[in-house]
Amino acid sequence: MLAALTAARAGARVTLLERNEKLGKKLYITGKGRCNVTNTADFEDFFGQVPRNPRFLQAAIRGFSHVALRDVLQQLGVPTVEERGRRVFPASQKASDVTRGLARGLAEAGVDVRLSCRALALDAAYGAISGLRLENGEALAARAVILATGGASYPATGSTGDGYTLARAVGHTVHGPLPALVPLIARDVWPAALQGLSLRNVRLAARRGGRLIFDEQGELLFTHFGISGPLALALSSQAQGDGAQTGEGAQAALWGALDVRLDTKPGLTFEQLDARLLRDFEALARKQFANALAGLLPARMAATLPQICGIPAHKPVHQITRAERQALGALLKGIPLPIAGTRALEEAVITRGGVEVRQVDPSTMMSKRVPGLYFAGELLDVDAQTGGFNLQIAFSTGVLAGQAAAAQVRRDQCDQAN
Ligand SMILES: Cc1cc2nc3c(=O)[nH]c(=O)nc-3n(C[C@H](O)[C@H](O)[C@H](O)COP(=O)(O)OP(=O)(O)OC[C@H]3O[C@@H](n4cnc5c(N)ncnc54)[C@H](O)[C@@H]3O)c2cc1C
Repeated sequence: MLAALTAARAGARVTLLERNEKLGKKLYITGKGRCNVTNTADFEDFFGQVPRNPRFLQAAIRGFSHVALRDVLQQLGVPTVEERGRRVFPASQKASDVTRGLARGLAEAGVDVRLSCRALALDAAYGAISGLRLENGEALAARAVILATGGASYPATGSTGDGYTLARAVGHTVHGPLPALVPLIARDVWPAALQGLSLRNVRLAARRGGRLIFDEQGELLFTHFGISGPLALALSSQAQGDGAQTGEGAQAALWGALDVRLDTKPGLTFEQLDARLLRDFEALARKQFANALAGLLPARMAATLPQICGIPAHKPVHQITRAERQALGALLKGIPLPIAGTRALEEAVITRGGVEVRQVDPSTMMSKRVPGLYFAGELLDVDAQTGGFNLQIAFSTGVLAGQAAAAQVRRDQCDQAN
């Protein structure tokens, strides 16, 4: 939408094709319906939130930052507010207002918006874009085409991976797609017993080959298959690294090599926690172990702990040895949480993988293989952590592609006139 609006405002005659019956279906569900449009992090912090191919995005993000985006939204009648974690939302707290503002802008700029209209193939006669074909059999002529078909996650929103097929058909390499920002499946059974329990202010850390690759504090949610919530989603993205480990075996090896630990008491050192356990156990000496942790942990977590730590639930507290207590303290500071893999793409907030960025010019978003073809958004092989970064990437690459496509069309028309 922003790519089309930018190109139209730059003077191009633009048709926007949307396969759904309405615009912005995915936008509608972002930020739990509130749409976290961007993040006011400075450039360095911004790129720190992009695990894959951040350098490719330098020109796009610097050229159209959160400041420019908020200005455009303001002009479109969508004022924004900054909240915790530098996250920016529409002041109305409604994702639908972002789509409504963009749709209004598109109408004012004279963009021909065609709904329920699915692009099926690109026409690239003599190596350059000449148009595209639609599912209804129609052929459209065009000097430039911007592909902004999204990734392959939450396919019910319309992003079913069509763009990958279109790009591949004209010679582009497409990686994956794999799920990222996605819940994780636990190897052990105990997390499932805690289904529905959300732990706040816990810390999740992951090491591979002894090297710390993830260490964050926040919220973790237990599910019937493992873990979800902000910490699990962030780990799912960070742990996948740069490689193109797409096969099932490679994925299993990737997660199998990861040592994931849950620190239930990040605010206490081991010594402080041990002193606390000692105090609690002295006060509750006549109780059974299972009933002695209620002050320290949520009741359901306390009830599950005997299963994890090996101290029998019915053991009288006064019989717990010093070594057992210390082992328990160490465990509470780092419960092993082995991961079997991720949930499916359908449940992923973002798609990891997409069009190989080395085949795209980062200063224009134009294909290096097919002149006249541009890319924007999640379709590209870039993805970021949560916090508004993914939408800013889509908006920034869209603006760059819109500007460059309009400039190219102008040049082509001049060349033809001459
Ligand atoms: C549940 C959820 C919550 C999220 N929350 C946030 C958030 O708060 N902040 C944030 O920054 N990011 C968030 N994201 C990620 C963000 O929504 C995406 O990264 C972003 O929407 C990508 O934009 P896009 O324009 O590239 O693709 P999309 O928004 O997926 O748009 C692509 C459009 O292309 C259309 N299309 C596809 N194929 C064709 C075709 N062949 N012909 C015609 N049209 C086609 C689709 O119908 C779709 O409307 C969230 C994602 C999910 C799933």
